Formats: sequence, C-alpha cells, structure tokens
Amino acid sequence: MARYTQAVCRLCRREQTKLFLKGEKCYAKCTFDRRPTPPGMAKAQRGKPSEYQKRLREKQKLRRMLNMTEQPFRRVMERAARSPGNSAAVLLRSLELRLDNIVRRLGLATSLATARQIVLHRHVRVNGRVVNVPSAEVKVGDVISIDPRMKENTGIKLAMEFTEKKTPRPAFLEFDVEKLSGKLLREPARDESSFPVNDQLIIEYYSR
Ligand code: SF4
Repeated sequence: MARYTQAVCRLCRREQTKLFLKGEKCYAKCTFDRRPTPPGMAKAQRGKPSEYQKRLREKQKLRRMLNMTEQPFRRVMERAARSPGNSAAVLLRSLELRLDNIVRRLGLATSLATARQIVLHRHVRVNGRVVNVPSAEVKVGDVISIDPRMKENTGIKLAMEFTEKKTPRPAFLEFDVEKLSGKLLREPARDESSFPVNDQLIIEYYSR
C-alpha cells in the first residue's frame, strides 16, 4: 500500500482527534480546532459506532499518528503479540522506542515526519554510528546524537526552542544541549507514551 500523501489535517478530522502531524502548526493554527467535523460525511449518515468500528478507529488513529502503512504496522503488532508480557504494553513501548520517535522526543524535530526525514538523511547517530532506519529500536543506555554539521541547522534550532516552550522532554531521556545528544535512561512507562490511544481496543482488533 502506498504512503498517504494527501492533506494530513483531514486524518485528524477523520479520527476526531488531534494527531499532531504537523509539528508547530498543530499548536498555533490547527485545522481541527477550526473545523472538527469528519470529512465527507453527511450528518445523517453518522450513527452509533459498532464495537468493530471503535476498534478499527483506534487502530487507525495510532497507525496514522505514526504515518505507517498497514503491513509494517501489523508486523509490529504481531511481534508484540508473540512477546512475553502484556501485548498492549509491549506494542506501545516498542513504538515509543522507535528511533524517529526518540529523535522527536529529544526535541530535535517537532513532528514524526520531520524526525523520520532527519534519520533517513543520515544525520542521526546511535552510539557514534550512523543509523538511517527510522524504525530501529533504541535500547536503554544508547546515546543518540546529531551530525555536528547540523548544529547550525535552522530547523533543528527552532525545534529545540519549541520543545523548551511547549513539549518538555520526558524523564526517561537525558539531553545535552551543547553536544546535541541524548541518552535513553530507562524504558518509558505507559503514562509517558506519546500515543494517547486505547491500546486494548487495538489488541482486540487484531485478535478477531
Ligand atoms: Fe491535526 Fe496538526 Fe492539522 Fe491540527 S494542524 S488538524 S493537529 S495535523
């Protein structure tokens, strides 16, 4: 399936929640705040959602927050289901620890899309080695840094300023502003996840 390339604000309207896909704009000039109705649906067609629809929408919400297509998302889900422990917790933890998400939570990008681009363009290092795979999982103790040549990059400077003001870094990450590098101190707890979804509904969707 091809990657979604149309207006992303439409996805927030479809899921009836802010998915924060556009970084700073989501806080300053949000389309969903101005127009919170679902796209392309007449009022009369909307009814009470079935149990299946509730699970589907929750799954779509998370998938869209991550800008993942169905196949890779399903693979992550299947891996979580095979892992020992609570599948929902494993799923959210593994998504939280994706390299692109950690770059965003360190404040080096304001959206997941930008963080992914920084990783793909080989500007990110893990323990000193370039890693250009956005889905790579960061392990406890890993040091994530940015190419020193990117220190003066306007986008990164603005993202860090924005982080200081609006989206403080979580306690499971340590960040050195001078070196532009961060360290994963421990695994994130459930309430520290950046994905506010009902994980149980997603597990139920895939275990039908
Ligand atoms: Fe969603 Fe951000 Fe667009 Fe608002 S500005 S509708 S949160 S993508």
